[in-house]
Amino acid sequence: MQGGIQVNLNGERFSNEHGGYSEQAAKVLAQPEKIAWNLYDARIHESAQAFEDYRNAQESGAVRSFASLEEMAAGLGLPLTTLQATFTEMQQQAERQTADAFGRRFDSVNLLKPPYYAIRVTGALFHTQGGLEVNRTARVLNTQGQALPNLFAAGAARGVSGSNDSGYLSGNGLLSAVVLGAVAGRSAAELLHLKLSSAVLP
Ligand SMILES: Cc1cc2nc3c(=O)[nH]c(=O)nc-3n(C[C@H](O)[C@H](O)[C@H](O)COP(=O)(O)OP(=O)(O)OC[C@H]3O[C@@H](n4cnc5c(N)ncnc54)[C@H](O)[C@@H]3O)c2cc1C
Repeated sequence: MQGGIQVNLNGERFSNEHGGYSEQAAKVLAQPEKIAWNLYDARIHESAQAFEDYRNAQESGAVRSFASLEEMAAGLGLPLTTLQATFTEMQQQAERQTADAFGRRFDSVNLLKPPYYAIRVTGALFHTQGGLEVNRTARVLNTQGQALPNLFAAGAARGVSGSNDSGYLSGNGLLSAVVLGAVAGRSAAELLHLKLSSAVLP
């Protein structure tokens, strides 16, 4: 986050933004109209230029910039007094070195400074976790742990980051998709080969 924050349409922070992006999506979806504004400053804007996704967002017009808090409140339709209170609180917590109500600590070095930047965000399905139980050959298991006949699962059918949103490790969506896909394909071919062999050679 490097000092960046999220506020809802009331201009209030609602979470420790240092959480993972999976659990953060659920927190955004719990806000009025399921919307949040990502607020940051020129320092973060410059470092984000390294990311193609961010450059694309900028080209699409999603990135807004404002010379002051007053301009930002007016431009985003947020209540100025609440937004000012949100920024004042961050400053006070950084000075006192205390954690906020969500457990986040602010550092004076990273406090947001004008010009400010903003992007409107919501939550969306990114990957799935949990899913079907599979064995080492990607065969789907029943509740007794026995392989169901002729049924394999790969990809999002079997996430490997645990069963809830807080466990996601970046890259594990494609990891399970690619690796389990390869394992399932090979296992299915071996099973078919075995069946054909036993049909020909009883
Ligand atoms: C924006 C975004 C960014 C991501 N970035 C990353 C990342 O950086 N690293 C990472 O590890 N993961 C990332 N993920 C997650 C990752 O892409 C998924 O976890 C992964 O693609 C799941 O693979 P899958 O094969 O299970 O499902 P999918 O990739 O969704 O494939 C399912 C396929 O089935 C097809 N299909 C659906 N229904 C039918 C039907 N009835 N008949 C025939 N075909 C059907 C679909 O068209 C699709 O092609 C990202 C996801 C998103 C949305």
